Amino acid sequence: MFNLKTLVRQNILALQPYSSARNEFKGNDGVFFDANENPFGNLNRYPDSYQKELKEELSNYKDIPVKNIFTGNGSDEIIDLLYRVFCNPGKDKALTFTPTFGMYQVAADINDIELVKLQLNDDFQINTKTLIPNLSTDGLKLIFICSPNNPTGNSFQEKDLESILKTFNGIIVIDEAYIDFSKTASFAKYLEAYPNLIVMQTMSKAWALASARIGIAFASEEIIQLLNNVKMPYNMSSLNQKAAIDALQNKAIFESNKKVILEEKEKLKLQLETFHVIKKIYPSDANFFLIEVADANNTYQKLVDQKVITRNRNSLVKNSIRITVGTPSENKQLLNALKNI
Ligand code: PMP
Repeated sequence: MFNLKTLVRQNILALQPYSSARNEFKGNDGVFFDANENPFGNLNRYPDSYQKELKEELSNYKDIPVKNIFTGNGSDEIIDLLYRVFCNPGKDKALTFTPTFGMYQVAADINDIELVKLQLNDDFQINTKTLIPNLSTDGLKLIFICSPNNPTGNSFQEKDLESILKTFNGIIVIDEAYIDFSKTASFAKYLEAYPNLIVMQTMSKAWALASARIGIAFASEEIIQLLNNVKMPYNMSSLNQKAAIDALQNKAIFESNKKVILEEKEKLKLQLETFHVIKKIYPSDANFFLIEVADANNTYQKLVDQKVITRNRNSLVKNSIRITVGTPSENKQLLNALKNI
């Protein structure tokens, strides 16, 4: 049986969170002597520590109540917070499927948590047979599942993810950083059915706001409360909040950029298929392709020499390179550089 209280670290359950001045007095109307701020300037006041306006925009757009939304300084912050809320350093464990996004490991290392890594199968899907016995690993609190997966590009099968949600009594985090490019639906629709589910998204990819650092988590009200208790009081600057609110109020730009990227993705795939240097293009449900070449280090360097920067993923998938879909002219540059190899 899932029981949130048994999963949360005792010190976090007992935590008396910091209460900021802006939290104790919530109105905008008044003369403020409460936060030792400077009375001069445009950025002199502390930002809204709970990002209420941003969450309201997200709530309207995603049709998810504000109480089920957490916003952070990129999803990287949320990954770290999840370890800090649920995993006792040096004791508890987390699990993920590799190859995958590197921050699950780095944040585990920072928090002194062992990350159990299960290899995806040849199609980069989850091997449920090897997973089942691992679900009863002692001290296993968190499972990170990246879908669509970085760097492989594919989404996992819905039935596999649902069976993990049904079987595992710990927390399952589905990282949907690339969901806006995907043909599969978000797992946010399962939030009410599964209290152990956390869906993570970001405005760094399809919303074109990587520089503004806007990460999002959808979860039960109790889990959102725990994240709010542990986060830094002002984890998102007012500039970042405004950038995100502006983007959500101008969805036409998001939609038209996304359309161009998805069209370019199809064109790029057809073009990439014509190159002998490329042995395989893995199926992608995201805004990038993982490709296999004969010698990734060599191909990567030859592209760098022509000022075309891809991501060498040789250390994760032998002889693979990850290529993000760019603008039409950027993609032309990439194809020209490939012709020269
Ligand atoms: N999850 C995945 C799968 C990613 O690829 C990335 C960024 N590359 C992140 C999370 C981090 O995103 P953010 O910019 O929101 O911290």
